[in-house]
Amino acid sequence: MDFLPIFLDIRARDCLVVGGGAVAARKAALLRRAGGKVTVIAPELCAELATAVDAGELAVCARNFVAADVAGFRLVVAATDDAAINHEVAAAADAASVPVNVVDDPARCTFIFPSIVDRSPLLVAVSTSGAAPVLARSLRARLETLIPAGYGRLAEFLRRMRPEVKTKLAVGARRRFYEDLLEGSIPELVMSGREDDAAAALQRDLQAAVDESTHSSRIGQVSLIGAGPGDPDLLTFRALRLMQRADVVLYDRLVSSSILDLVRRDATRIYVGKKRDYHTVRQEEINELLVSLAREGKHVVRLKGGDPFIFGRGGEEIATLAAHGIAFQVVPGITAANGCAAYAGIPLTHRDHAHSVLFVAGHLRNGTVDIDWPALVRPAQTVVIYMGLSALELICQELIRHGARADMPVALIEQGTRPSQRVLIDTLQNLPTRVTGSEVHAPTLLIIGEVVGLHRQLAWFRGGRDEWAQD
Ligand code: SAH
Repeated sequence: MDFLPIFLDIRARDCLVVGGGAVAARKAALLRRAGGKVTVIAPELCAELATAVDAGELAVCARNFVAADVAGFRLVVAATDDAAINHEVAAAADAASVPVNVVDDPARCTFIFPSIVDRSPLLVAVSTSGAAPVLARSLRARLETLIPAGYGRLAEFLRRMRPEVKTKLAVGARRRFYEDLLEGSIPELVMSGREDDAAAALQRDLQAAVDESTHSSRIGQVSLIGAGPGDPDLLTFRALRLMQRADVVLYDRLVSSSILDLVRRDATRIYVGKKRDYHTVRQEEINELLVSLAREGKHVVRLKGGDPFIFGRGGEEIATLAAHGIAFQVVPGITAANGCAAYAGIPLTHRDHAHSVLFVAGHLRNGTVDIDWPALVRPAQTVVIYMGLSALELICQELIRHGARADMPVALIEQGTRPSQRVLIDTLQNLPTRVTGSEVHAPTLLIIGEVVGLHRQLAWFRGGRDEWAQD
């Protein structure tokens, strides 16, 4: 982070704007909107500033700036059109440890003004740390359309109700109360102006929450969530909503860090990843952990790469929960086959080339792979092999031995859908040697079939990603 985002209380505090033009006027108005007591220093004032001074909204010193002027101010803005004066202001403020903003000169600023969405008391501030103000402004414009105008009113309503809720409910119960409230009908009531009805509904819900917390046998719930193959954009809305309501998250190696970043910040994160050759936390321990955390009344999120029901042992985890009478839900995710195929431009089925698609686990067990080979070499079929890297050579050999064409195209997709995605295209016969000579990073997926040949036409996601695909 280049800057620490904070919200500053400047109500009735002295703020200094150096400059008398339109830019200075805009900054002075913004500071006034936040309740600041603004003094302007400039030998001459534009009409807008002069009017504000006449209306008693601003104090003015009609002269040039001198370094000693910064004393006593909480913050300073340098907004003249003379770079030398702006530098002087910045140096004086910095020497006096007063935060300073120099308009259009990020290097001399000790604070910057974000783009804001103002639904006071709700405020959203957006900044690109000065890198691309236009980007911040365009994002702000999108947020404007996304955040209902009534949200300010809702925030104000919740502020009024807050002391009572705080005295009646303890921290955890309080958070759940507010989360349920926001999902229910109260926000609409407030935003449509029916605040009395909203207050009555809130009282009813609050009483119910108090009753529930005093007879506290509240049992938690588990959400078994498919996090997709890596690109956070491939999460479902429901996955995101539940991740943001989690008390605790259990995740494994396939869950990318950019997805983990989207989990509620205060949730406890527990890594239960498995590596190919040893298990960090055994499956039974994970199952037991899910049960015991839910018994503590927590909302437990079990995040899994791809889809929980495709080579994810999701079935076993929920069987344990069901046996213990714990509420759960399963949120499907985009499985690696779908994600990798789409991002590599390989359609899994195709009118002319493949009428069916098989998802197969290709991991080695005791030096061999337990696969029904004849089923894999049928015509007009695409085969997707998960966990097939360590047995790659054996897989390619067996397929050829059971009748597959030696020049059948194969794609090996490394870290599919992530920025680091790479696609290696070759044939069954040559792929193992190609892979031996390259550094391959897990996770990888194999797609075998005529459809692989279409990737040249169909891959849109190329930019530097498939430097391997030299065929
Ligand atoms: N439940 C997951 C699969 C878990 S098995 C799903 O539905 O996708 C783990 C295997 O999935 C890995 O060995 C690899 O073959 C595949 N895999 C998962 N994510 C992948 C990715 N981003 N790129 C390539 N392969 C991936």
